[in-house]
Amino acid sequence: MIASNLISKKRDGKSLSKSELSSFFNGYLNGEITDAQMSAMLMAIYFKGMSEDETFILVEIMLNSGSKIDFSHTKRYVADKHSTGGVGDKVSIILAPTLACLGIKVPMIAGRGLGYTGGTIDKLESIPGFNTSPNLDQFKRWVNKCGYAIISQTNEICPADKKIYSLRSKTATIPSIPLICGSIMSKKIAEGISGLVLDIKVGNGAFMKTKEQGAQLGKWLKNIGKAFSVSTDVIYTSMNQPLGRFSGLACEVQEAIDCLKGDGPDDLIKITLELGAHILVQSKIYSDKNSASNAFMEAIDSGKAFEKFQQSVNIQGGSIDKLKLKTVPKYQNILKARRDGLITKIDTESSGWCLVQMGCVAQKLGDELDYSAGIEFYKKLGDVVNSDEPVARIFGSSKRKIDNAEKFLKPMFTISSEYKPSPLIL
Ligand code: URA
Repeated sequence: MIASNLISKKRDGKSLSKSELSSFFNGYLNGEITDAQMSAMLMAIYFKGMSEDETFILVEIMLNSGSKIDFSHTKRYVADKHSTGGVGDKVSIILAPTLACLGIKVPMIAGRGLGYTGGTIDKLESIPGFNTSPNLDQFKRWVNKCGYAIISQTNEICPADKKIYSLRSKTATIPSIPLICGSIMSKKIAEGISGLVLDIKVGNGAFMKTKEQGAQLGKWLKNIGKAFSVSTDVIYTSMNQPLGRFSGLACEVQEAIDCLKGDGPDDLIKITLELGAHILVQSKIYSDKNSASNAFMEAIDSGKAFEKFQQSVNIQGGSIDKLKLKTVPKYQNILKARRDGLITKIDTESSGWCLVQMGCVAQKLGDELDYSAGIEFYKKLGDVVNSDEPVARIFGSSKRKIDNAEKFLKPMFTISSEYKPSPLIL
């Protein structure tokens, strides 16, 4: 294989064969292909795309880069959820323990921050001691004992995604349908699940900015699920504003805990419930969405879902008690409205980049995250504001970063006189 020939082939819009894709991607894993060459290939794929056949092959190569977990011995329905990424999306932290309470086994492999979107793994690591990189046996033991566990890609499971994911984040090559398919589906299939529900985010804070792009991604993800015998449901949700009230790291875990205690914001609960009900119906434990939704809310209202979350945090070595103590932000600024009116637009992607600058997403290997950093959105789309009224609180451990973030965030709220609400679940 001559790496540059394969890059130029893709750059010129041609298809790569199975053996070409395999030697390039496996070559990257074993060090024959450099970061520079893989970055060029990713950019070529970003611009020229891949056929559905090439995308299936990519999923297979990424899946086979590591081990696949076997849950065939279990009587329980083994399933998972994944989102295509957004701002303030802490759904997995609420969904997994709640499903585990209702008899679903959830072996969740999640990601770190990607581009301007926060990562479930980074958020969970704000819990002191929380281990997201166990070996495979340990992961399986945790899932069997507690009903669920959330870990990162490791050198044993999905090493290809582990390596390529962080390179995509650094090279502006994330919003590519074949690359998203490869990344998400290799992780999910490796988990050994039978069922999957995907939350495809669409809007100004999502990688898929339009419904058409979202629909194409959804169709391909569903087809891949089918080809690998994973029942895959897809829902489309709006990412035209951050989900919930908080976006950041520890503050999102805290908001997820509030939700698990029955005190979460409506949008967050609505999406979590929708995804949860899909899995429960898919599992055939519940015959319809209504009874599944009631059971889901009952698991939360009874306190069982929060207990399950506590159990899992303990098993994974973390301490919830220390979460608040260790992540108190040193500084905060209050962002105020520039005029009277209604909030008619929030530039969600830019608010995500603001969080990146505040230290909520690593930009290169070894970057330290600021677990205490985040934004609290006092006002959301459609809310009335008066001039000088607080619209958001920006907090973290660096005064300079908070001051910069305030300047950066100010123009992101559009205030005018008319707002037409649009649905959360599309
Ligand atoms: N989530 C992933 O795991 N991968 C992507 O490419 C996008 C969202």
